[in-house]
Amino acid sequence: MTLDRAARVLVAGSTGLVGSAVIRRLERVGFQDVVGIHSADADLTDTAATRSVFERLRPNVVVDAAARVGGIAANHAEPVEFLNDNLLIQTNLFTAAHAVGVHRLLFLGSSCIYPRDAAQPIKEDALLTGPLESTNDAYAIAKLAGLVAVQSYRRRYGHRWISAMPTNVYGPGDNFHPTRSHVLPALVRRFYEAARDDAEEVVVWGTGTPRREFIHSDDLGAACVHLLDHYDAAEPVNVGVGTDVSIAELAELVAEAAGFRGRIVWDRSKPDGTPRKLLDVSRLAGTGWKPRFGLAEGIRDTVEWFASSATRL
Ligand code: GDP
Repeated sequence: MTLDRAARVLVAGSTGLVGSAVIRRLERVGFQDVVGIHSADADLTDTAATRSVFERLRPNVVVDAAARVGGIAANHAEPVEFLNDNLLIQTNLFTAAHAVGVHRLLFLGSSCIYPRDAAQPIKEDALLTGPLESTNDAYAIAKLAGLVAVQSYRRRYGHRWISAMPTNVYGPGDNFHPTRSHVLPALVRRFYEAARDDAEEVVVWGTGTPRREFIHSDDLGAACVHLLDHYDAAEPVNVGVGTDVSIAELAELVAEAAGFRGRIVWDRSKPDGTPRKLLDVSRLAGTGWKPRFGLAEGIRDTVEWFASSATRL
């Protein structure tokens, strides 16, 4: 079922952590006509602008890695933007893709679409079985709408569109903003700067007890291309690595990779969010894919990238 390497593949969100990794992977496995678009090429929250890009580029295959994303603080502070922008972006992309006859599309969701108290590891069939985590419910509802849209286009028009639900992603080129980013890049910045400045302590949010699963962006990029080649069903596919760590363990790993030897202080005034998010990846494993990066190695890779780019960020 592998895709024709001559197909024109459009990756929306091409400068983001996930989109850029998908493009690298597509090119690596021999796709000859990969085009990326991002917000500077077209405002994807604008229906007409999105439509005209699709009419100009006429893709055969689409990967939707475009989204407004952010960590727990950004999601909590800006629920309206996270809901509206993501609904608009995906609706515009799907409508335009359908209009120009795109039969193969991969939509990227998020593991936060699962109920806050879902049984762990989380199977795809836990969807909509309980209430969401409140700190990111607006983002999660938008992504759930995207998943149902993909299923609806399949049912109504027979398109071979699919959805992947990745766990927390990290890697070189991530958003390393000190307060708006996700935990892993936030800690990379904080521990790197503390080691550089010989600081005595680093503050980490929450209690350190929540557990998260992290996938390197190159592994996620590879999984996305693998799914385009080998998966075609309405049910989403979890994309993860199968193991999780506590935020306290994560902080230790980042401290070590950054060469920080001081104290870690917990700021319990900050929210913990979902207590645990570990995906059941048996459906993905059943398609014959497994990750390549271990977490310690991936963190070293990311710290190295940040160190060499820190003056620009
Ligand atoms: P989540 O997986 O959707 O909750 O997203 P995050 O990556 O933002 O947060 C994961 C966990 O890391 C939460 O329990 C946060 O409280 C914790 N955390 C600790 N320090 C930080 C930090 O500096 N930034 C962020 N975003 N989260 C942090």
